[in-house]
Amino acid sequence: MRDFASELEQRKQTGLYRTRRQVSGPQQPVLTADGKRLLSFCSNDYLGLANHPANIEALRNALPETGLGGAASHLICGHHEAHHLLEERLAAFTGRSSALFFSTGYMANMGVISALAGRGDTVFSDRLNHASIIDGCILSRAKVRRYAHGDVTSLAAMLAETSGHKLVVTDGVFSMDGDVAPLRELAEVCRQHGALLVVDDAHGFGVLGPHGQGSAAEYGLSEDDVPILIGTLGKAAGTSGAFVAGSAVLMDYLVQKARTYIYTTAMPPALALATCASLDLIEHGDERRSHLHNLIERFRHKASALGYDLMPSRTPIQPIMIGSNTRALALSHALEEHGLLVTAIRPPTVAEGEARLRVTLSAAHSHDDLDSLLQALSDCRYLLRS
Ligand SMILES: *Cc1c(COP(=O)(O)O)cnc(C)c1O
Repeated sequence: MRDFASELEQRKQTGLYRTRRQVSGPQQPVLTADGKRLLSFCSNDYLGLANHPANIEALRNALPETGLGGAASHLICGHHEAHHLLEERLAAFTGRSSALFFSTGYMANMGVISALAGRGDTVFSDRLNHASIIDGCILSRAKVRRYAHGDVTSLAAMLAETSGHKLVVTDGVFSMDGDVAPLRELAEVCRQHGALLVVDDAHGFGVLGPHGQGSAAEYGLSEDDVPILIGTLGKAAGTSGAFVAGSAVLMDYLVQKARTYIYTTAMPPALALATCASLDLIEHGDERRSHLHNLIERFRHKASALGYDLMPSRTPIQPIMIGSNTRALALSHALEEHGLLVTAIRPPTVAEGEARLRVTLSAAHSHDDLDSLLQALSDCRYLLRS
């Protein structure tokens, strides 16, 4: 039998072993993890809505109306009017004809890719796409061609030499690097080569574009340009779930074919209503977004001045590149000694030799919070040279 224990031991020796921290209380910048109060710079709660009173109240008010459990899948008897209302709101907000509410972003990607591509088709996927996209490609049984990160020219060459049905899939904002995909150029080559473009805007939704409509909206891309738009609701929206938006025909097709939509219990409907409340906050969240933007600018300016190696990112995802796994862990531990929670990201989440600290900023952070991070980074600089 395979020796699982020694595989775990080997992970520990190479700095790849992962542990979980136990959080108590709500998710917010100052949180309690393993009983310790820490100032966190690693959640994806970009707008500070995960613990917003209006969303909590919406959930509380919804519960007596909808009850708790989803009770069945959408195609049996689980499709509640609350889910339907959220879908209509999401379609209107993103400027799409219709939208479909999934239980998680992971499931949305798995379901969309495996429904829209199959044996004999080809899926083109950016090298840095999220794990759920990679897994969706595998599940689809289509031929998968990975193109160099953001490299539209080499994608175009690959598309030109491929016949048959083609799907191009990309993160809108890349989850570990924080850069934005060249969506306008991607839309253009997809149009030229008759490929269907799928954009997973997990980190752009709520943060980028007018009213936080996302990265596609920031580039002014319509449903014609980006026929399949995916967004997740557990990040900037601060609740849970995900959506796919596009034409009525494509959404209907997904209802028929997306196995992760069909064969799973509908989310608690009250949560859909809480997400509607969250959408109101996102839509009227320009002040939050402009505060967040100021924090990002200031972090980038000061952290680079301290000698830290940042990525070309203008989003709340601001990785500090370190390289070695053990050194990334050492810096993360040192920051924790200073009362800060910033997680080290190691392979296989990122490429070998590209371990990093993934700093994420939130509109819930104050400028004083940011100062605490910058002070600690200044104190820990010696670790870069050791
Ligand atoms: C987080 C994330 C997902 C998964 O979404 P969940 O709702 O957390 O399952 C999908 N795609 C990207 C790019 C992500 O960052």
